[in-house]
Parts: sequence; C-alpha cells; structure tokens
Amino acid sequence: MKRMTNTASHSLALLKIFLASLVFLALVFVAIVAFPEPAFQYRRVYQHYQIWSDRPIPRQVEQVLDDVTRRRRTSVLYDPHTPVKIFFCNAPWRMWLYGMHFSTRFGGVADVWLTRHIVIRESDIAANRIVPPGSAPLADARQRPLSYFIAHEITHADESRRFGRTMLLRYPDWLLEGYADYVGKGGDFDIDANRRLFLAGAPALDRRKSGLYRGYHLKVAYLLDKKGWTLEQLFDHPPEEKELDAWLRAW
Ligand SMILES: [Zn+2]
Repeated sequence: MKRMTNTASHSLALLKIFLASLVFLALVFVAIVAFPEPAFQYRRVYQHYQIWSDRPIPRQVEQVLDDVTRRRRTSVLYDPHTPVKIFFCNAPWRMWLYGMHFSTRFGGVADVWLTRHIVIRESDIAANRIVPPGSAPLADARQRPLSYFIAHEITHADESRRFGRTMLLRYPDWLLEGYADYVGKGGDFDIDANRRLFLAGAPALDRRKSGLYRGYHLKVAYLLDKKGWTLEQLFDHPPEEKELDAWLRAW
C-alpha cells in the first residue's frame, strides 16, 4: 500500500513538472512574439508606419505604404494617428514563428489578441508584390499587390481595436474577412460581376474551393454599398450567412 502511494506521488510530481514546463514554454513563446523587434535587423519609419525586416528595406516602401493608406481611407475605422508595426518575414522560419500559425503558406497575419502587429511573408517591396508560397502564381494577383495584403491585415487590427480582442470568437468569418478584403481592395471590386459569378457557383467566390475572400467581400459590399448599412449595424446584427446568400440571389 505504501509502495502504491509512493508511485502515485511520484507520478503527480512528474505531472506537475510537465505542466510547469508547458506553461513556461507558452510564456516564452508569448514573449518572443510580443517583442519581435530584436530579431529583425532592418527598420524604417514612414508616417505612422514602423517597418521591420530581416532584409534591407528599399525606399519604394514609401510608395507601397502610400497605396496602403489610400486603401485604408475607404474604412470608417481608419485612424492616421494610430501607430502600425509591420514585420516582413522573408526567412521561412520567421514567418513560421512570428506568423503564429506554425506555417508559411499564407500572405500575412495580424495579431488581434495581444500586440496588433502585422506580419507579412517574403515580399518584393520594390515591385509591390508578395512572393507567393509554392510554385503556383498568386490568384487574383492584379487585385492583390503587397499593399492589398498590408491594408487587409491592418484592417483586422482596426477591427480588433473597435470590436474587441475576442472578435474571432464573436463574429463570423465572412464579416471579419469580408470587411478586411473590402478595405484591402480599396474599391477595386466589381460587385455586379462578382454577384453573377456567385450565382453561377464559380469556385473563385467559394472560400473553401479557392482560398479567396471574394465571396465574403461580395457579402460585405452588398450590405454596405447596396443596402446602405453602416459598419456598426453590420457588427451589431450580422445576418446568418445562409440568409445573406438568399438575399444575394433575390437581389
Ligand atoms: Zn484576413
């Protein structure tokens, strides 16, 4: 009996060490992603944008950021006085770590929970384009230059400021991503042509088939630009996606 008690207490001690190690590693991870600056050698400041990179930052970044601002001005959440921190992760391991998805297969990400930092994948800043993951060319490349990706991600940070850090738990994906794309595209979106594609069941309008947010963008653009809803109304009472699809078909 005594022996069993000793074994149980030993197992409990091991479990405590294991859990304490997990907590410690989680804290280290949070500290690393919350303070990424020391891991990025190059820095530039332009207006309210602070840019870090693991490669030299060409001066053309200013034109890219001017275009980001042009896109963001389509948003009621745009505030030119709020600092924005953008981290270019050209090395895959940086994207894997600082992107917080443990993957390198995406264009950019915004930390809406804690820092509101923007992380962007390997990019050719002078050409205003991201280097897409994999060998396939970037889909919708003309509508999605680097400035689109940056404006899209900053809009997520703006959504988090306005609607709360827990927004991912409280609002549907079509709304959060649709609005980020609505702003990111900066008005370069033909709502009638995209609705026709939606009615025809085109894969480009289906997020699961294409990986694109065009279908979500269509829903948000329809409510804001055709039905005249405000962004506040949209976030106060987001319709069910099925209901919204029915409206789009009947429109
Ligand atoms: Zn997004």
